[in-house]
Amino acid sequence: MGYNVICIKCGRSYVSKANRNGLCENCKVSGSERSMTSRTKNYDSVIVYLPKGKRDKLKMFSGLCGMTMNEFVNKAIDTFSDAAFENSLNENNEEMLKKTYEELKNF
Ligand SMILES: [Zn+2]
Repeated sequence: MGYNVICIKCGRSYVSKANRNGLCENCKVSGSERSMTSRTKNYDSVIVYLPKGKRDKLKMFSGLCGMTMNEFVNKAIDTFSDAAFENSLNENNEEMLKKTYEELKNF
């Protein structure tokens, strides 16, 4: 049993045990926590080790392309994957490869 109260941050009504307005469950989570939660829910992360100084190269060339480093790496993966797929078409497992490729290429 609870009280219908108003969230002082977002203005939505929510049910609380205390009979006073406060923060709803959604607003109790800090902004950075929320964006972290959304990030881990929607994205995989990979740690890549680069030779010293290569990060500067990544930063410079992604900037030249008007991309973030993250966008640049994603684009590089897609571009390289397309080329690798074309090069491997003559090998065995063509059907399986095609199927896998179709499933993955939209990421
Ligand atoms: Zn709220």
